[in-house]
Amino acid sequence: TISMVVIDRTGAMAAGTSTNGASHKVPGRVGDGPIAGSGSYVDGDVGACGATGDGDLMMRFLPCYQAVENLRRGMTPTEAAEDVVRRMLSKHPAIHSGIVVVSKDGDHGAAASGWTFTYSFRAGEMKSTEVVTAQPLEIDQ
Ligand code: ASP
Repeated sequence: TISMVVIDRTGAMAAGTSTNGASHKVPGRVGDGPIAGSGSYVDGDVGACGATGDGDLMMRFLPCYQAVENLRRGMTPTEAAEDVVRRMLSKHPAIHSGIVVVSKDGDHGAAASGWTFTYSFRAGEMKSTEVVTAQPLEIDQ
């Protein structure tokens, strides 16, 4: 799965997710990737999100919609992502998830469950890409 969140030089934001599907994909499965609010979501006034993981579980939570709403309510990107992962963990303790969140100002953060999640970040003046790692949350963290 590849999720991308971008902010252009005018401040306009976009987000999208492409996936080959989870393992053992059944023919005709759509998955969470193309579902707005699940695989990705953006509100240019607030921020954006991309998601990967157990899509058939994650799509029940619209995790990217929730993460952007968390930003709107004042959470940092990391707090917004962690809240979403905890919500999913509370119902599915074994869920694999990775959530990356970017505010409209370019602040970014992530949270994960079930695996170590990495994402890459690069802003205008940076000469190289920064790789950020989120360790998996446990259910009671
Ligand atoms: N979420 C994707 C899916 O369930 C898989 C992935 O993110 O690796 O299709």
